Amino acid sequence: MASALSDKLSRLVKEIRGQARITEANVTDMLREVRMALLEADVALPVVRDFIARVKEKALGQDVLGSLSPGQALVSIVNRELSSTMGEGVSDINLAAQPPAVILMAGLQGAGKTTTTAKLAKHLIEKRKKKVLTVSGDVYRPAAIEQLKMVTAQAGAEWFPSSPDQKPVAIALAALDYARKHFFDVLLVDTAGRLAIDEALMQEIKALHAALNPVETLFVVDAMQGQDAVNTAKAFKDALPLTGIILTKLDGDSRGGAALSVRQVTGAPIKFAGTSEKLDGLEVFDAERHAGRILGMGDILALVEQVTSGVDMAAAQKLAAKVKSGGGFDLNDFLAQIQQMKQMGGLSSLMDKLPASMAAKAGQMDMGRVEKDIQRKQGIIHSMTPLERRKPELIKATRKRRIAAGAGVQVQEVNRMLKEFEQMQDMMKKMKGGGMMKMMKRMGG
Ligand code: GDP
Repeated sequence: MASALSDKLSRLVKEIRGQARITEANVTDMLREVRMALLEADVALPVVRDFIARVKEKALGQDVLGSLSPGQALVSIVNRELSSTMGEGVSDINLAAQPPAVILMAGLQGAGKTTTTAKLAKHLIEKRKKKVLTVSGDVYRPAAIEQLKMVTAQAGAEWFPSSPDQKPVAIALAALDYARKHFFDVLLVDTAGRLAIDEALMQEIKALHAALNPVETLFVVDAMQGQDAVNTAKAFKDALPLTGIILTKLDGDSRGGAALSVRQVTGAPIKFAGTSEKLDGLEVFDAERHAGRILGMGDILALVEQVTSGVDMAAAQKLAAKVKSGGGFDLNDFLAQIQQMKQMGGLSSLMDKLPASMAAKAGQMDMGRVEKDIQRKQGIIHSMTPLERRKPELIKATRKRRIAAGAGVQVQEVNRMLKEFEQMQDMMKKMKGGGMMKMMKRMGG
């Protein structure tokens, strides 16, 4: 399904490439595909509508001469808008409070609150050298209290006991008092969840919030929840001033559209992502990577960005104009071309970004060797005099030997490079005019 979308988009990109502007006419089809991708990734419908409207506004009338084609420019805009929407805000835990800094964990039952509480404890101990206490306010499920006790020990933090006959606020206050007296830096408060939102649950967590005045109120949400995540998020946001989101179970195969929905509905930053059941499965949320996942395009988006920004279109246009006016294509231009390929970030780094299917195809080439070859060619041209570069026809046997020695290669290699240069020169002659641009676009497609 994911690759089908990439195919569709690249076909559309092909159809409208070569147009210099994003217009009402060419953007509609592209946006329809993006909309489908977002819905397939389980982003909630109102959120999709909003997002598409924003992208359209940003894209329309944009001059895209600086990039390769309207299609790629649009993909870029979508990608940037997605990343910036999901990526805004500070991602580490805020501990700027009179210690102990209290962190309140909110969310439905099964979202991963207890696991995430222990993951956070481990993170704060190992990465930020904090002394951490945990407590469970889940008086309805003794098993939940036991579970927190167990994972807290695994995380290397201390656990504050609680029991079903106590009130959650009383438990939390007792834990806070203990944390103060024993100089804990952080108190993590796990709370009761229900399978669905209910009023009593909301009242309880509101009371906890009022009593504890936490520096962080984190909404823990299961990425696999899809469309439902929006309603849950809305209910928690209405009850509590959320300061952050933790998206769990991103190791599953959902496309994680809940991230965009929840971010949009709550306005709170997505701070972490849960990536396994184990306690080290907590990662700082990477909005850019997640944008690619939502669109089902892997890192192809990053590739488009890189190609778009790496190719110096102004230089390409100058070269095209030069060839067109009969200025000829000399070794300096050949060198500029080679350097442009290097600017694109190095071939092997581009390869890393290709989706697996494409990479396998291209993988039959030895990219390390291709890159070395580029370097050697560059070395050969650098060993030439300015006159030789402008008038390659001067390069005969003696000069070839000198150049080869200077570049540390065999004469045959100089010959081979000159031959390649001649072929390219031929091609340039044939496609005077728009040809250069066409070629650059082909490189980006
Ligand atoms: P709570 O009811 O909100 O406290 O949820 P739990 O912490 O008990 O988690 C519910 C289930 O989800 C457990 O089986 C956890 O092991 C699992 N879980 C939590 N976070 C993740 C995660 O990031 N990835 C995976 N694969 N499983 C998770």
